[in-house]
Amino acid sequence: MKVSQVNVSAVQTIHRLGIIGGGQLAWMMGDAAAKLGVKLIIQTPSTNDPAAKIAADIVLASIDDVAATAELANRCDAITFENEFINLEALSTLEKQGVIFRPSLSTLSPLLDKYHQRCYLRDLGLPTPKFWDWGMINKVNSRTDEQNQLPISFPVVLKARRHGYDGQGTFIIKDEASLNSILAKLGNQLLLLEEFVPFERELAVIAARFVTGEVAIYPIVETQQENQVCRRVIAPADVSLEVEKQVEAIAHSLLNSLQAVGIFGIELFLTKNDQILVNEIAPRTHNSGHFTIDACETSQFEQHLRAVCQLPLGKTSLNCDSAIMVNLLGYENADSDYLVKREKLAQIRGAYVHWYGKSESRLGRKLGHVTVLQNGELRGDRRGEAIAIAQTVESIWYGPRSFFPNL
Ligand code: ADP
Repeated sequence: MKVSQVNVSAVQTIHRLGIIGGGQLAWMMGDAAAKLGVKLIIQTPSTNDPAAKIAADIVLASIDDVAATAELANRCDAITFENEFINLEALSTLEKQGVIFRPSLSTLSPLLDKYHQRCYLRDLGLPTPKFWDWGMINKVNSRTDEQNQLPISFPVVLKARRHGYDGQGTFIIKDEASLNSILAKLGNQLLLLEEFVPFERELAVIAARFVTGEVAIYPIVETQQENQVCRRVIAPADVSLEVEKQVEAIAHSLLNSLQAVGIFGIELFLTKNDQILVNEIAPRTHNSGHFTIDACETSQFEQHLRAVCQLPLGKTSLNCDSAIMVNLLGYENADSDYLVKREKLAQIRGAYVHWYGKSESRLGRKLGHVTVLQNGELRGDRRGEAIAIAQTVESIWYGPRSFFPNL
């Protein structure tokens, strides 16, 4: 695509797709791209990044280098994203020149800042936890008080409004002393304050929207977090039909209102009385959708490519009864490919091991995942079996530190 010459309406099926970001989410698009005959051109800072291996072409630059994105645009028909570290202002110059971003920058605009995202959800009438802009609380209090008077009592949740991921930048705070020490660490960052939701379970749903407005929704899953990091996903979630309908309605209403194109991950809290609250929307493929690679007719990665490249959406149904996905998180700083452990994991019946090929392991880093397919729905009494499978995977991977508390 020549930046200055593109004619948006003339672009039909996209054969050369640019991706800003070269991590595992871009890497997992590799197989689907080959299947669909789409060439992936990746903007990423290092040839060691996971997606470098599957790229037809690489623009070697940091993901916020807008001159590099202009070069990426010259080598492809449209550009998509693998993360939300997006500089909208810088990219809007390119969009004005005709570069096609999918999702578009106007879709992304209300989502990148967690406070703006909450406001968007509230204005759409969707249920969210109660929230406040931390800056406003500070302003009001500085007029009257030395101490910050919180509008809610502890525990509270404080979040960095931008650039948080995998729980980095999310803090569950029990008392005034912890609040002050976290505030001191965070410095002048823009922050969001939220009520702590004593949820029963966390759910997630992956949904895709096509340029023509068609929406395809995957089975709702249960996600399990520890220290704000996703550890396991159980598909499908054991929820009532009402909850299922409510979640699907939320997905429809969100994606339509955003005029979204591509895959979106929606994280939710399910409360004791079956109330749903939206926690977060990720405008990209999502960790809670990794099970779709092995367990669904169409993986979330293929579906994303289909949506953004204007190929008809695929079926989202499960091709098995249930699936358990377990993240393999780094538990030490090391240079190892953990081959012996991976071989052992692959011997679990129904297991598919996905290894992202990162050369360095660090504490908490996502190095791979395992999906185990099961016969029979692991609902009700059988839910314990899903947990037992996850524990088998984790005891092979983490060994004696199986449920390490503090990453
Ligand atoms: P990230 O964007 O880094 O994934 P999230 O906002 O999704 O951060 O939070 C990560 C995890 O922290 C959630 O999955 C949940 O377990 C916990 N969490 C976040 N917000 C709240 C909240 N308001 N109440 C209770 N737990 C929360």
